[in-house]
Amino acid sequence: MSVENIHVAIRIRPMSESEDQVSRCAVCVPTAQPTVVVQASDGQIKSFTYDHCFSSLEVSNDQGTQEKVYSEIGADLVTSALEGYNCCLFAYGQTGAGKSHTMMGYGDQPGVIPRAVEDLFEQKARVARDGDELRVWASFVEIYNETLRDLLEPSSLVKDQQSTLRIMDHPALGVIIPGLVEAACQTALEVRKLIKFGLKKRVTSATIMNNTSSRSHAVFILKVQRLPRGERSEALNARMNLVDLAGSERHKHMDSQGATFKEGCAINQSLSALALVIKELGEQQARSFNRQRTRTFSGPLSLGPANGSPVPESNKEAVPFRASKLTFLLRDSLAGNSRSRMVAAISPAAINVDETISTLRFASSVKQVKTNASVNVDQKT
Ligand code: ADP
Ligand code: MG
Repeated sequence: MSVENIHVAIRIRPMSESEDQVSRCAVCVPTAQPTVVVQASDGQIKSFTYDHCFSSLEVSNDQGTQEKVYSEIGADLVTSALEGYNCCLFAYGQTGAGKSHTMMGYGDQPGVIPRAVEDLFEQKARVARDGDELRVWASFVEIYNETLRDLLEPSSLVKDQQSTLRIMDHPALGVIIPGLVEAACQTALEVRKLIKFGLKKRVTSATIMNNTSSRSHAVFILKVQRLPRGERSEALNARMNLVDLAGSERHKHMDSQGATFKEGCAINQSLSALALVIKELGEQQARSFNRQRTRTFSGPLSLGPANGSPVPESNKEAVPFRASKLTFLLRDSLAGNSRSRMVAAISPAAINVDETISTLRFASSVKQVKTNASVNVDQKT
C-alpha cells in the first residue's frame, strides 16, 4: 500500500491572439523550480509552488509540449495501471485555459488520453511476450446538470437516457455506474473510434440541450485487467479515470429563472462540491498530522511519518462526497485506493488573472490531499 499526495501540475498556455491584443502577460515561471509567480489585479505579487509546471511562455524550450506533459504525468499512470493500481488524472481550470488540449488534444497535438491509449496497447504487446494477457474496456460518461449521460451508448435519445444512469456504491466493487457501456477493446484504433464517437455525441447532445461542452464534465474510463499465464495465479485489475472538468469560472450573468440559471447552479454544485470535499479532506489530514506529531514528540526516538495519513474509512462519511455526481463518481480517486494527479490549466493574460489566482489556490489545496493506493488482485478462477 502506498500513501501519497495528489500530485499537482500547473500548465500555462501561450497568450492567445485575442489576449495579446488587449492584455499583457501577468504570469511567469522565474526559475527551474515548479513555481508560478503571478501579478494580481491590485499589483501584488503572489507565488505558488507545485509538483510540476508546464509552461509554454518561453517558446524556446520544450517545457510546455504535449510530449513533456505525457512523459511526466501520463506515462506513469499507464505503468501504475499495469501494476494493478487505480489511477486518475483530472484537468481543472477556466474555459479556454487548456483542459481539453491537455486531456484529449486537438488535430496533430494529441493529449494525455490518446497517448495513454497508444502506450497501453504497446504494453499489451509487451506483456503478451511474457505470456500475460491484457484486457481493456473503455467507458465515456458526461455529467451535465447533475445528470449522467453515456457517451458510448449508440442511441441518440438524449432525454430518455438521462434518468436511467445512476452512480452506486457497491460493497465489493466501490463506486460503479450500472448499465454504463463498457466496450471491450482489442486495439488502440478501436479505442480511438470510440473516443471520436463519444466526442461527437457530446457535441450533438450539447447542441440539443442548448449548452456548450465547457459546461459539463467528461470522464473517460479505462478498465485494465492483466491475466498472468503460468505459475502466478492472480489477476491484476485497475481503473483509470481521465477527467476533463467543466470550466471553473464563476457564472456571473445568469437569468434568475430560466434554464441558464439552473445550468449555472448545477455546474457550480459539482465544482463547489469538489472544492468542499478537497477542503474537508485537507483539514482532516492536517488534524491527523497534528495528532501524529503529538505522539511523535512523546515517543522516544520515533520520527513518525513525514506528514498526515489519508482519511480513515470510518471518517469518510463525514466528507460530503455524495453532494454531487462528480464527487461521488470520483470518491475513490480523491480519497481512496488511487494514484491521482491534477493538471490545473491557466491563461497567462492579465485579463484572466482573478480566475487564474482562484485556480492556483484550488490547486494548492488539492496538493494537501492524500490517497491510499493498493494493488487490486483477484484470484484467477
Ligand atoms: P478548455 O478545454 O480549458 O476550455 P481548450 O483546451 O479547448 O480549453 O483550449 C482553448 C484553446 O487554446 C484551444 O484552441 C487550444 O488549442 C489552445 N491551447 C490550450 N492550451 C494550449 C497550449 N498549452 N499550447 C497551445 N495551445 C493551447
Ligand atoms: Mg474544454
